[in-house]
Amino acid sequence: MSLSESLAAFTLRTTLRLLLKPALSPRVSVPRQRAWLEKLSRIGRLPPGITRRDATVAGLPAEHWHDARAPPVRAGTVLFLHGGAYCVGSPRTHRALAAWLARDSGLPVLVPDYRLAPEHPFPAALDDALAVYDELAAQGPVLIAGDSGGGGLALALAVQVRDSGRPAPAGIALLSPWVDLRPAHKPSAVPGEAVLGADWLQACAAHYAGTATDDPRVSPQLADLRGLPPVLVQCGTDERLAGQSRSLHAALQAAGVDSTLDIEPRRWHVFQLHAGQLPSANAAVSRLARFAQRTLDAVAAPRHSVHDVVILGAGMSGLCMAMQLQKQGRHDFVMLEQQPGLGGTWWDNRYPGAQVDVPAPAYAFSFAPNTRWSQRFANAPEIQAYQQALAQKRGLFARLRLGTRLSEARFDEATGLWHFRTARGDTLVSRFFVCSTGPLSQPRWPDIPGLDDFAGLRLHSARWDHDKKLAGLRVAVVGTGSTAVQLIPPIAREVAQLHVFQRTANWVLPRLERRYRWFDRLLASFPPYAIAVRAGWVQFLELGRRGFDDGTFMRWLMLKLAARQRRQGIADPALRATLTPDYPLGCKRIIYSNDYYPALSQPNVAVVTAPIERLTAHGIRTADGVERPIDALVCATGFDTVHLLQSLSIHGRGGRTLAEAWNDGPDAYHGISVAGFPNLFLMLGPNTATGHTSTLLFIEPAVQHAIACMRTVEQGGHRAIEVRADVQQAHNAALQQRLGGSVWSQCRSWYRMDGGKVIAIFPGFVREYVQAVRDPAWGDYRLDGADRAVPPARHPAAPQRRADMPPTRPGAH
Ligand code: NAP
Repeated sequence: MSLSESLAAFTLRTTLRLLLKPALSPRVSVPRQRAWLEKLSRIGRLPPGITRRDATVAGLPAEHWHDARAPPVRAGTVLFLHGGAYCVGSPRTHRALAAWLARDSGLPVLVPDYRLAPEHPFPAALDDALAVYDELAAQGPVLIAGDSGGGGLALALAVQVRDSGRPAPAGIALLSPWVDLRPAHKPSAVPGEAVLGADWLQACAAHYAGTATDDPRVSPQLADLRGLPPVLVQCGTDERLAGQSRSLHAALQAAGVDSTLDIEPRRWHVFQLHAGQLPSANAAVSRLARFAQRTLDAVAAPRHSVHDVVILGAGMSGLCMAMQLQKQGRHDFVMLEQQPGLGGTWWDNRYPGAQVDVPAPAYAFSFAPNTRWSQRFANAPEIQAYQQALAQKRGLFARLRLGTRLSEARFDEATGLWHFRTARGDTLVSRFFVCSTGPLSQPRWPDIPGLDDFAGLRLHSARWDHDKKLAGLRVAVVGTGSTAVQLIPPIAREVAQLHVFQRTANWVLPRLERRYRWFDRLLASFPPYAIAVRAGWVQFLELGRRGFDDGTFMRWLMLKLAARQRRQGIADPALRATLTPDYPLGCKRIIYSNDYYPALSQPNVAVVTAPIERLTAHGIRTADGVERPIDALVCATGFDTVHLLQSLSIHGRGGRTLAEAWNDGPDAYHGISVAGFPNLFLMLGPNTATGHTSTLLFIEPAVQHAIACMRTVEQGGHRAIEVRADVQQAHNAALQQRLGGSVWSQCRSWYRMDGGKVIAIFPGFVREYVQAVRDPAWGDYRLDGADRAVPPARHPAAPQRRADMPPTRPGAH
């Protein structure tokens, strides 16, 4: 737990104990309790950009929270029933929670002011909730949520909805729900309880239900729970109602309901009310928001939506684009990600041992340093944690649609807009299209005959299945690139036999490992230190670029280090010869590893260089006639970098597809723009990969370039921007000429096509790329249709789109 979390938790808990708990007492009149609670709730901190509107729903006053800066990226509404034991509480006491939920989910959140006891006893609250639900459900899918008494009310409402045959809610989210009001089952005291007293709960139960507390509509724990939609139950350990959360979860599971219990250690009753002040409360609200998104997405009908920018891919470059758009005050974007989680390559590549091979300080954005790296070469889970933290902190989950595969993108010349279709039938329209899928997103299976005949376990490193265990098995790894080198050492430790099929030996250099300790993390939290360390690494890595040129000191040094690494890591001269590369250093990606060679020297590991002939049902046969029996095949065979973006059809001007434009292999202008494809921006596009430094150093200036182009289109009232074909051609001719004489054209690698064209690598220093792209050279671009920008045609089924928000804002013309 961080220091700021501990301090905030201590302060809040003490405040609640001293100021709230004594007031929630049968000895204080209900009107006084209500007034005091409202006063105390004013200390909540609201997120910027989220707007409150007073509404009337089903004749009831309500507060409606939404992000007024951009339309939502998904359909649905959260109906939030506030807590307060049916006697106190109001939409005003739950403003912080509702606003953060609206911010994190990107969904409108409606908090009705339902009638309270003792003036309006049971069933007034339930009748009100049902009337509001009916009105919302008539407009689209609804998630029912509530806390404490509101949680009990939410569950009672869901049961009532089911019993009356109304359209079911998408899901039910219950925060510390009070679901059993019977006096005989009064919840017992729990150490650390900061809010609830037993006497107060009992008095409120009597106000609300009199003696009818065993009615399942009052105590929904007693109801038949079968057939309810997915439920999330959240609570803290330090609360009187934690026991009710646990037994409700058990009852839901016994009833066959998809129920998740999410318990936060050392937190009190409805600690989520302190979102904005307490990091664990924000994290819990974020989990709740994701549950809302997931359940609403699962029931939503295909829909049409219109945005300024569609970003394809939620990896490092997609995140960077989203954050920089936000920074420019542009909030109307949507990120589409085909995987069920955020992270891009770091979501895909979760094989054992996955790590970044540049020092972590250089693998964080310049504007978002990370103080939590545990080691110099961060592993995949901590990089993903960094990405998740960024997305949570900046509210990006609200703009993210996971599990969404784009199947078609088509540019409309008349309007300058892109039209999209997803695999599930959603349609979208946007002015700008950012493809941030990168070159390493399409796993490549090896073209080995009989691959499908193999009856054992088959894994690809970029689609690892952690449920499948390799311990004790006979395993073959095909490939010896950066990925294989990382996964071989951990696999070798647990398998019975490992055959490593090497087609080409790789250059391996030492890895300058170091674990970060508490003082490193403390120092990293001081911005000047973090900036200096990052800048230092960036400069150091730039030296590595010289290693790709013959005759440099850096190359001499790298060759010496590689030879020493082989000498020290491999005792057997024959194995050392097998592992000595026969092509120039740097042509393929250089590998940094201290444990690869020792792993290959283990008695249960064998390096096989005989060419693979075919796979059989239970083994792998090589050209020398030997068949090695195996239980599992691990393909660390990389990615298809040639057929970039061809899993969807992208149609530019005149309906020409990107695949047609890239018939001779992918190319672009600075890896960002492609002639014939206006308003399209590629992130980590052709010839932007690097062999010596962090890809983030290429992403940031490319994002800056794309946003400058978008601004120019809008400020000039244009329809579209497109790189001139002659400029792109000249740019690539020069690039290929430079690459033709370089180290990268001297072997087979994912940087290069079979015909020789180097499609992936940028041959220069980072500073060259930054200088070239940071400020676009406007003469290289063509702008279309000044003063003729056409707002998007409104689809008949586009109720969410507001007429006042065309993708090209009128005010910007
Ligand atoms: P890769 O570098 O393309 O390596 C693929 C390996 O599979 C090569 O050894 C290749 O042999 C072999 N192979 C492919 N088809 C084969 C076949 N039919 N039969 C036998 N062998 C076959 O892929 P990768 O290792 O996944 O790495 C790709 C890139 O991902 C890296 O270069 C790097 O940029 C990135 N990466 C980064 C990290 C990191 O730490 N940041 C970690 C992993 C990967 P040949 O060499 O003979 O073609």
